[in-house]
Amino acid sequence: MTATRVLVLNSGSSSLKYQLLDMRDASRLATGLVERIGEATSRLVHTPLAAGAGPRERTGPIADHDAALKAVADELAHDGLGLDSPELAAIGHRVVHGGLRFTEPTVVTDEVLTEIERLIPVAPLHNPANLTGIRTARALRPELPQVAVFDTAFHTTMPEAAARYAIDVETADAHRIRRYGFHGTSHAYVSRRAARLLGRDPSEVNVIVLHLGNGASASAVSGGRCVETSMGLTPLEGLVMGTRSGDVDPAVTFHLMRVAGMSADEVDVLLNKRSGLVGLCGDNDMREIRRRVDEGDERAALAFDVYVHRLKKYIGAYYAVLGRVDAVVFTAGVGENAAPVRSAALAGLEGLGLAVDAELNAVRSAEARLISPAGSRVAVAVVPTDEELEIARQTHELVEKANARK
Ligand code: AMP
Repeated sequence: MTATRVLVLNSGSSSLKYQLLDMRDASRLATGLVERIGEATSRLVHTPLAAGAGPRERTGPIADHDAALKAVADELAHDGLGLDSPELAAIGHRVVHGGLRFTEPTVVTDEVLTEIERLIPVAPLHNPANLTGIRTARALRPELPQVAVFDTAFHTTMPEAAARYAIDVETADAHRIRRYGFHGTSHAYVSRRAARLLGRDPSEVNVIVLHLGNGASASAVSGGRCVETSMGLTPLEGLVMGTRSGDVDPAVTFHLMRVAGMSADEVDVLLNKRSGLVGLCGDNDMREIRRRVDEGDERAALAFDVYVHRLKKYIGAYYAVLGRVDAVVFTAGVGENAAPVRSAALAGLEGLGLAVDAELNAVRSAEARLISPAGSRVAVAVVPTDEELEIARQTHELVEKANARK
């Protein structure tokens, strides 16, 4: 029997999200989440989709990631989908930062773990948690292939002109300061899916992908390769996000340190946690912001306008970077659901061949779909992202290739 299942793990500092997929038909067998790991009130929610049953929930202390993964393994075993099943081909791990070293999904070895560890200084919040997840899974199933899929990998094709900051080269290189970009798994999946929606091969099309979730980033993808993206050394650069500022004059940082007496850590928290939509109006949920705008709330209207203005600026910039655009594609929580954001971001861009059909834009659907008027020069699309499926696909492909060589 060939093993066709892939377990996808996304390990955060106090959470573990997982999905078990069968790559014969990309179907989902189970999904779940462990949250508040290390606290007394940990919670595991497991949904055995293959069994067609509803979610099962467990609360009570789960001490660490090791205990969390064991609890997940127990839940899966309960449904006959245990980690010891011969049908499990591999575990695919989301790893946020792969630096310049990891340009592709990579089978985990001790050397790979050391490299991911070396990247902690550029991803202090994420890489340690991702590493814990990988180590825990390896300890539980040492002989099973573990594959690391990096959020930065899709962006490693960016030309040097886009990836370099215009700062002293020696200083930048000594500290590995450059633009890496994130959400790469989503940008890769969505740009390919959009090409399919247009009935074209990804190698033939130029696409602008707008991943608008709580974190948000744009990318310009030419012939399937990323040529520009809006996040940089960290996920702070670029678009206005739920709680992150996106672009600010870098002088804001030392101004706050010198004039407001803030520490580097305080500025870090301000720009990452207390800025963006939340900083502008106190809410980071676009549904709530739209509700307030409709009630005439000025702060919410300001937040919406700043958000949309930045988005429009990036669409224009990436149009220029690509020269010719076949599609602008919206994805993630806001991009998939917030019709007013989509229409406002493209308003007035008819001269660039960009327009949104009001009726199509208003349709709510979980399917990939076009929202531009028939015959538009540039397609506008909504494509639900699926990072887990993409991680599973890349993991499975790599393991199959390795098996074929054996
Ligand atoms: P994500 O990070 O992709 O899960 O996106 C989460 C964000 O999507 C939330 O913070 C909301 O701002 C936004 N969102 C989710 N559902 C809707 C909706 N129905 N309408 C508008 N925004 C939404």
